[in-house]
Amino acid sequence: MTAELHGKIGIVTGGTSGIGRDTAVLFAKTGAKVVVAGRREAEGKKTLDLVRVAGGDGLFVQTDVSRATEVQVLVRKTVEKFGRLDVAFNNAGIEGAWSPIAEQSEKDWDRTIDINLKGVWLCLKYEIQQMLKQGGGGAIVNMASVAGFIGSAGAAAYCASKHGVMALTKTAALENARSSIRVNVVCPAVIETPMGERLWGAPEAKKFALGLHPIGRFGTAMEIAEAVVWMCSDRASFMTGQSLVLDGGFLAGPNPPQ
Ligand code: NAD
Repeated sequence: MTAELHGKIGIVTGGTSGIGRDTAVLFAKTGAKVVVAGRREAEGKKTLDLVRVAGGDGLFVQTDVSRATEVQVLVRKTVEKFGRLDVAFNNAGIEGAWSPIAEQSEKDWDRTIDINLKGVWLCLKYEIQQMLKQGGGGAIVNMASVAGFIGSAGAAAYCASKHGVMALTKTAALENARSSIRVNVVCPAVIETPMGERLWGAPEAKKFALGLHPIGRFGTAMEIAEAVVWMCSDRASFMTGQSLVLDGGFLAGPNPPQ
């Protein structure tokens, strides 16, 4: 059974594809009004169409989450249109260019950290400001990854950004617990999305990555969306400062020989 977000107003960043898109649709199906944020207008409008087909209502706000003014506008437009903000999924992220640290450019490092880490911090900042202005209450889910727990050769900036999101989540949860604003983080292993395909779509890479998942397959975006909706709902009312790992057994230990 899907948890209810009936009557809530929510933001989904990176709602322009993959996990963000499916979560925006599930927000709508479970009763929330959903503000889709992302850089690509056509993709954002497509998500909004899917939200409407699902019987919901929403808004697309073109947003680069690494820019403070754009995130401020995102929250402001949400409140202008729907009057308040109750839930948010800070999901936007990039994989960046993967290379060993010794070969990595400063530009690639900065870009990944700007979007994946600073972007989540900016979203938290302006979302929490708004929730406090409303008198408190709300639920925020950040997007990390199994790369928030472990390293991955060639992915230093990505792993560092996702470890950073774990720290931001715990800190934001502590700072706002008394204001009834819950902040949690979701940590998937490989999920079938455009990003998953870019990273692990080639046959050799796919074989390697599948071998890291004891369950024998990658996850789906909707499997992550289900968990995010639950974490945003009042059914998760005692959960804050925590991570929920959805990984098909990836972090449980080495995948035994089949
Ligand atoms: P995706 O590439 O399909 O979707 C990411 C979306 O974020 C895209 O629509 C992209 O345009 C948007 N985006 C990127 N930079 C942005 C910015 N600066 N401002 C606003 N939007 C921006 O990938 P996905 O797999 O759906 O990834 C979503 C999140 O899940 C990412 O944070 C990713 O790191 C995380 N994640 C993905 C996987 C996976 O295997 N797919 C696993 C663990 C975590």
